[in-house]
Amino acid sequence: SNDYRVVVFGAGGVGKSSLVLRFVKGTFRESYIPTIEDTYRQVISCNKNICTLQITDTTGSHQFPAMQRLSISKGHAFILVYSVCSKQSLEELKPIMDVIKEVKGPDLTQIPIMVVGNKCDESAELREVTTSEGQSQAQEWGVSFMETSAKTNHNVKQLFQELLNLEKSR
Ligand code: GDP
Ligand code: MG
Repeated sequence: SNDYRVVVFGAGGVGKSSLVLRFVKGTFRESYIPTIEDTYRQVISCNKNICTLQITDTTGSHQFPAMQRLSISKGHAFILVYSVCSKQSLEELKPIMDVIKEVKGPDLTQIPIMVVGNKCDESAELREVTTSEGQSQAQEWGVSFMETSAKTNHNVKQLFQELLNLEKSR
């Protein structure tokens, strides 16, 4: 199929919707509007073909377990977002990783997964997770890692590009 489905997970308030909106629409808002679940479609070129990149922005930890499993089973690639200002939000990615392993099988090497430390624009005093802490958590899970800022647009395009590159290198 020419559909490539990316699912974005992470605790409420870490910036999932902001990352997706920054990538899809090029916009950023300071206000926090809780998400139900939104899917965005973008036509992209991949391997000389036209593909539809389908990005599902989830509600976060409050997603119903059955819905979460369905999103995972349908997804080709996953973005797991935490905020560098919240150690708790990194902790909250653990159960999601466990469900991904359950649904997709214990060997995740075939599945593009990116752990993303968002809000890297925030001041050093507000930081609770260092870059190397984020990196070593991702390494422990055997997945890729990146820090982003939806606010300043740091690494946002690269995040989606990198996911597609991981897909191609399978
Ligand atoms: P979600 O619940 O994960 O979808 O989070 P949102 O995208 O709704 O963002 C939650 C709050 O964090 C909003 O007030 C955003 O403006 C803010 N936010 C999102 N991304 C960033 C970022 O990269 N840097 C900063 N400083 N704030 C951000
Ligand atoms: Mg949201």
